[in-house]
Amino acid sequence: MGTIADYTGGFILESIRKALHFFDSTEGPLTHDEKGQRLHKNINEFEPLILSFNQAAEYIRNAKSIAIGKRVCRALHPESALTESVFLNELAFAMAASGDARTATIEEAEECQQKSAGHPLIISKVSGEYLEICPSYPPDCIYWLAEKRGLHCLQRMGKP
Ligand code: SF4
Repeated sequence: MGTIADYTGGFILESIRKALHFFDSTEGPLTHDEKGQRLHKNINEFEPLILSFNQAAEYIRNAKSIAIGKRVCRALHPESALTESVFLNELAFAMAASGDARTATIEEAEECQQKSAGHPLIISKVSGEYLEICPSYPPDCIYWLAEKRGLHCLQRMGKP
């Protein structure tokens, strides 16, 4: 499972880099590949959910603390579309303290998500709680790339 310390310590970025390298260096479905299965298990621990703008707004409104920062994997693709993620609660505190994000109000977080319209919103569990809402960029996103290679990981959040 990804932890808050993994986000502030750079470990999560390194894990994404390795996963992208694995996808780039292989072809076809990975469902029967041993490394593919290990990666699938690691990815599933984030329990990623695709959510609507309104569902994301509900998480934002219920958060104790909010921060905004570049989506984590963009550091690996600086030329790609810029989208910013919203971090919640303890992850927001930690990302702001490490300088990886800036604290934000509810309105700023909602505005940030409106600016990223067209990028599917994905919420991920970090340290056991849903704390990261990313306007994903499918060509570089490990979740979407895993799906393309047969490693099903994305669920759509049910209607409230
Ligand atoms: S685009 Fe995908 S891999 Fe990149 S930070 Fe967002 S959820 Fe993670």
